Amino acid sequence: MTIERITLTHVRVPLVEPFRISNGSVSEKDGIIIGVTSGGLTGYGEASPMSGGFYSDDTPESVWAMLVAELVPALLGMGDVSIDSANHMLDARSRSPFASAGIETALWDIESQKNGRPLYAELGAVRRPVESGLAVGIYPAIPDLLAAIERFMVEGYKRLKIKIQPGWDVEPLTHVRRVFGDIPLMVDANCAYSRNDIGHLKRLDEFGMMMIEQPLHKDDLEGHAALQAAMATPICLDESANNCATVREAIRMKSCKIVNIKIQRVGGLQHAKAMHDLCADAGIPVWAGTMPELGIGGIQTAHLAMLPNFLYPTDVESSQRWFTGDIIRPLIEVRSGMIEIAEGLGNCHLVDAAAMQPFKVQEMVFPCL
Ligand SMILES: [Mg+2]
Repeated sequence: MTIERITLTHVRVPLVEPFRISNGSVSEKDGIIIGVTSGGLTGYGEASPMSGGFYSDDTPESVWAMLVAELVPALLGMGDVSIDSANHMLDARSRSPFASAGIETALWDIESQKNGRPLYAELGAVRRPVESGLAVGIYPAIPDLLAAIERFMVEGYKRLKIKIQPGWDVEPLTHVRRVFGDIPLMVDANCAYSRNDIGHLKRLDEFGMMMIEQPLHKDDLEGHAALQAAMATPICLDESANNCATVREAIRMKSCKIVNIKIQRVGGLQHAKAMHDLCADAGIPVWAGTMPELGIGGIQTAHLAMLPNFLYPTDVESSQRWFTGDIIRPLIEVRSGMIEIAEGLGNCHLVDAAAMQPFKVQEMVFPCL
């Protein structure tokens, strides 16, 4: 394809409630929506870092700068572009998987529109409803946590994930089990513990959870292997699972039994699909995580989650779970815990320019006129 125009739109949407994890707290969601036009079709992707380096070193400002200064000009300079050639360029030049994901996923949207099919079919998946799980952050006190779960679980989510950190683990889990009984439950520590905590973390086995997500530092595969050997609850890697080479190593070392695949963390759909295939071959089930992204990133994650080895509920939630407004139509809805993608081509859910307007921080069109 020949790319005629690229539009970057930085939007900032206030959250329904602040989102707090072991690394910090945010109250607004930033996303950079990337529209790529080729042959009369426009595809959309989303680069969706958290503000303040909350999950990784990438911030909305650093990703915007990398797109404007390097990646967008490089893409426009390529002439004939395919998803493969764009991935080669991004792998060589991008220092941010978030920036890469924003561009690469827009190309998938165009490619699937051009081929007259929805994104999931372009990825090689068969349409199926996607199970959605509720994720809640860390709250000031137990009653706040329980009230939030109560409030959001009415949408029928298929599992509950709570964020934990040292000093906020056994007690919230005890209360969640007491109030909500035997629901499918997991926790996410976002790297908050160390190998010194292995004895303590073993206590979490008593809660009979589906998995514990990223308990230790992202580079500590050996520590995760030691913890997995000591505890019955399956370990799921998130922050560690940056690329296929690391995931292959983690599986070899028995550092995890499950992998969370995030389009943003791995730099796009082609890498995400490769990680899915690698895990499927190794007998390791995966599920689709989120940042959480706005609607474009969210719906693309739901498309990805139709691949056959996505065997646990996704973190994609309804648009109204986190955001006071979303930029797509129709919105993502969760009914009885399931997400159904709209009928259509490509992303299937369209960017709504009017809905985006009140949230705009800045916009740039390339090539610059
Ligand atoms: Mg996580």
